[in-house]
Amino acid sequence: MDKGSSRLVSLNEVLPNAKKGQYAVGHFNINSYHWIEAILEAAQEENSPVIVASSNRLVDYLGGFRLIATMVNAMIEEKNITVPVVLHLDHSDSVERCIEAIDAGYTSVMIDGSHYPIEKNIELTKQVVDYAHARGVSVEAEVGMVGGNEDGLISGIKYADPQECLQLVTETGVDALAAALGSVHGPYKGEPKLGFDEMKEISELTNVPLVLHGASGIPLYQLEKAIRLGHAKVNVNTECLLAWTRVVREYLNNNPDTYEVKSVLTTGKEAVKAVVTEKIREFKSSNKVEKVKMGAY
Ligand SMILES: [Zn+2]
Repeated sequence: MDKGSSRLVSLNEVLPNAKKGQYAVGHFNINSYHWIEAILEAAQEENSPVIVASSNRLVDYLGGFRLIATMVNAMIEEKNITVPVVLHLDHSDSVERCIEAIDAGYTSVMIDGSHYPIEKNIELTKQVVDYAHARGVSVEAEVGMVGGNEDGLISGIKYADPQECLQLVTETGVDALAAALGSVHGPYKGEPKLGFDEMKEISELTNVPLVLHGASGIPLYQLEKAIRLGHAKVNVNTECLLAWTRVVREYLNNNPDTYEVKSVLTTGKEAVKAVVTEKIREFKSSNKVEKVKMGAY
């Protein structure tokens, strides 16, 4: 796409301020085009920077990188969105997918090499950083493993090793780091046990903004502590999904004769917007729009 017409910014325009100010910028995954509208409207009303993200695994269902980037840019223009917006690729499993996203107009990408040994993770991350930084695009990497919740079984949590985090950040120059410390994708079973000591250590060692994955269901006091200890980006998806499905189910149950798609989808959109608004307030990024250089990419 014509990058000259894009008003999107990279993580580097919003996360360093957030880390300094001890608040976090919300990252919200889109699951349909209505969600872009919901996220942008909430951020604008809260006067907050925001990260619109697409999961790598949903990109094709959403019509591809180019369509997503075009839609986000058009919506920013049509709706007169003036707060800083980052368009971010979430959990890319390959260098190629990151390059595709960058070429289509994304201003930020995550390369997730966390399931590889650290050397291979660093190698992949470095390749993405080289390509991205030459184009003003930011990169997030992951060390350790965020748990996955499948069929009620929590599995695969692996705490990030502080020295590996330092090595990756030093050797790649990555802009944000997801250091997995006990968080989980999907709903939690019981109270999350986050590694706050490791969090503090990794934040001080690496000095890059940290990213919290799997924030849905983390109690507010733990979330606030994680933000104080260096998390400047907090990812939310499950809570929006749960809210959307709950209200749409209720609406259909209460209106068994309806066949008007607009009403059903508008109900869902409003539910997502309410969650995004609530999260922005919890992350304390309302009214934190600094003098961000717009139109740079
Ligand atoms: Zn994640």
